[in-house]
Amino acid sequence: MSTSNETVNESANLKALSGLSLAELEKFIEEMGLPKYRAAQIHTWIYAKLVTSFDEMTNLGAALRDRLKQEAKIGLLDIAHLQVSRDETRKYLFKLPDGKIVESVLMSFNDRTTLTACVSSQVGCAVGCTFCATGYLGFKRNLTAQEIVDQIMAIERESGKRISNIVYMGQGEPLLNTEEVIKSIHTMIESVGIGARHITVSTSGIIPGIERLREEDLPICLALSLHAPDSKTREEIVPITKTYPLGALMESLKNYTDSTGRRVTIEYVLLAGVTDKPEQAKALAEMVRDIHCMINLIPFNPTANDLGEMLYERPTREAQLRFKQLAERTGKTVTIRLERGTDIDAACGQLHNRFLQTK
Ligand code: SF4
Repeated sequence: MSTSNETVNESANLKALSGLSLAELEKFIEEMGLPKYRAAQIHTWIYAKLVTSFDEMTNLGAALRDRLKQEAKIGLLDIAHLQVSRDETRKYLFKLPDGKIVESVLMSFNDRTTLTACVSSQVGCAVGCTFCATGYLGFKRNLTAQEIVDQIMAIERESGKRISNIVYMGQGEPLLNTEEVIKSIHTMIESVGIGARHITVSTSGIIPGIERLREEDLPICLALSLHAPDSKTREEIVPITKTYPLGALMESLKNYTDSTGRRVTIEYVLLAGVTDKPEQAKALAEMVRDIHCMINLIPFNPTANDLGEMLYERPTREAQLRFKQLAERTGKTVTIRLERGTDIDAACGQLHNRFLQTK
């Protein structure tokens, strides 16, 4: 009789199939000495029918299902923790094969039929934004494309719901893991069935990554977390500005919009007394005047750092609206982000920190 530890070890040795592209599944199936069409069948069961066991793959035959059970498993990630907020936002902490933890969030909006999932692209983050809980964790490692895609599939298997939109806004800077992120986007489109225009990659401003995305020419949406219209403030709150200066970043963004013809989103966090001043709203409007973009304002969701200090405050509703009005002066669309899951720490990195603190 096997012990539970042996069962865990056995499971770790099995090849996880969810999150693989069709070509990767074909390679695995051919290595097993099986005909290629079996990969397409398994692909359909995993991505279209969301099965959780080989026994459900009824067109494979009992002998083949038994063989697959010996060598493979469906999901790569395990759910370590799940929280559901009053507004139905679902937040997942996933355990990776090496035991590290990442988070993903599933958000639904009452007035829309869409379901949006926010995925992580790294464990921790090297960018170190001063207002972000993930920034305090530091960088641990990049996720593989399979680990990124299986966040979506694990959410769909658990919730039984189909996701329509994906945002790369969880833990990590996607464009410091560009090749795996691009690979995952191809699988999201080709296997998971998400429309390219329903996928958004959000970057803190990694110029080589923006260039690489431009070359790849995927018709996805790009969001830039700008957060300040002047170098001094931005260097303070988004330290990577010292590596990729603001002027060069805006040039790279203009180049991206001019050559792809696609509108980008400028994300701007409103920190009381730091980034919400009227002169900053005017400077922001001028800075993006010639860039094909819209602006999304994010009122700060107060977060304590690892010393338990609250570094920033949320601006009043009045200050938010005043900023919005001034930022609209050059004719751009400006929105204030609708928040989800604030009762369960939905902001980037917050759930992960809370989970670790309570362990
Ligand atoms: S906001 Fe994003 S880029 Fe900045 S530290 Fe957090 S995860 Fe990294």
